[in-house]
Amino acid sequence: MQLGSAEVQIDEHHAQTRLPRECICPRRPFRRRPELHSTRTGSIDSTPISLYATRVMSKEYDLDAVIRKVPDFPKPGILFYDITGVLVNPEAFRYCVDTMIKMYRDSGIEGIAGIDARGFVFAAPLAYELQIPLILVRKKGKLPGEKHVNRFTLEYGEDQIEIHRADLHPPRRVLIVDDLIATGGTLKATAEILEAAGSTVAGIFSVVALPFLDFDKKLAGYDIRYLQEYHSE
Ligand code: AMP
Repeated sequence: MQLGSAEVQIDEHHAQTRLPRECICPRRPFRRRPELHSTRTGSIDSTPISLYATRVMSKEYDLDAVIRKVPDFPKPGILFYDITGVLVNPEAFRYCVDTMIKMYRDSGIEGIAGIDARGFVFAAPLAYELQIPLILVRKKGKLPGEKHVNRFTLEYGEDQIEIHRADLHPPRRVLIVDDLIATGGTLKATAEILEAAGSTVAGIFSVVALPFLDFDKKLAGYDIRYLQEYHSE
């Protein structure tokens, strides 16, 4: 099945989605831009998803203070944005989950696809609260049943995601959730599976985003929301 520039095939027929950059973003000088704060909206509401564009939402909690920046992880030259600092701060975690609930409660989403593994942590409480299905998007070899597979190429290597076929029946309006958007390759590969299986991508949510890696281009047309962004000059 042809979807945009990438081909998605099911199970043993794997297609390639070539990504322009490595999955993990390269380390660049980190500097907060104060002007960003003034551009953020004042509060979160339940405006229908379609009315939002790709934007950072409100800044009611200083997530930056609890997101650890780990140089040279998982390899030299990478600055790793570690959200485990959010999880050990109950106020920070509650802020993230409560904000997601406000954003999506009345959005009409019918399912949530959480990306392995840190995406699960944020997807699960939202699915619980909204009482809608939680669909796991897993790395290679973790799912026991029949599955949809999308293999995509990174600058140095390859990655693969899988979703149980049964979890995508019936087709639904699905929100995709991850902890961080870098190049957008993982989210794009997920969207391709969902759409190939007949579902609709109602939106994309991530706690952290790195817009300087141009995920906007790869994910053009999707409603993307995130709580904290980092820029490189
Ligand atoms: P991408 O497909 O390039 O958008 O990469 C997104 C996935 O890789 C997410 O699941 C992130 O958890 C992880 N990731 C990529 N770059 C980083 C980074 N600099 N810090 C933390 N996680 C990252």
